[in-house]
Amino acid sequence: MKQFGVIGLGRFGFSVATSLYEMGYDVLAVDIDEQIVQDISDRVTHAVQADATDENIIRSLGIRNLDVVIVTIGSNIQASIMVTMIVKELGVKFVVAKAQSDLHAKVLYKVGADRVVFPERDMGIRVARNLVSSKVLDY
Ligand code: ATP
Repeated sequence: MKQFGVIGLGRFGFSVATSLYEMGYDVLAVDIDEQIVQDISDRVTHAVQADATDENIIRSLGIRNLDVVIVTIGSNIQASIMVTMIVKELGVKFVVAKAQSDLHAKVLYKVGADRVVFPERDMGIRVARNLVSSKVLDY
């Protein structure tokens, strides 16, 4: 059974973490904000309050044993890059990171991200595609 880590529990990260857990996977959820960690605590396997840019803390959480880590820290680009790099350096095989811009995405790939997502952009494309491919237009 795959084990997941989600770092940064904004709207996107919260949704990814709780969805994976609802699908039956083990999920370690990490955020710097104590309140958010409390809010998610009974909807994931483990919820931990920590600054993920602190390499020693990340190491002590056993992140390297996870199969997939999703870095969903948003507006703090510096933190998102640092955390992605640390997690990849620890040896996590598959790291997904959320980007805010094309340049941000480029840097995330450079520091080792295996996949970069743009939640708003990706969802916009999906909704648009669904609208033209489904029967919605036939009405
Ligand atoms: P969304 O659009 O998904 O709501 P966002 O782009 O607005 O997200 P933020 O709210 O800036 O993103 O960040 C997402 C989460 O990451 C927040 O809950 C924030 O507390 C957390 N976060 C920011 N920095 C760190 C850090 N160094 N370590 C752990 N968590 C962090």
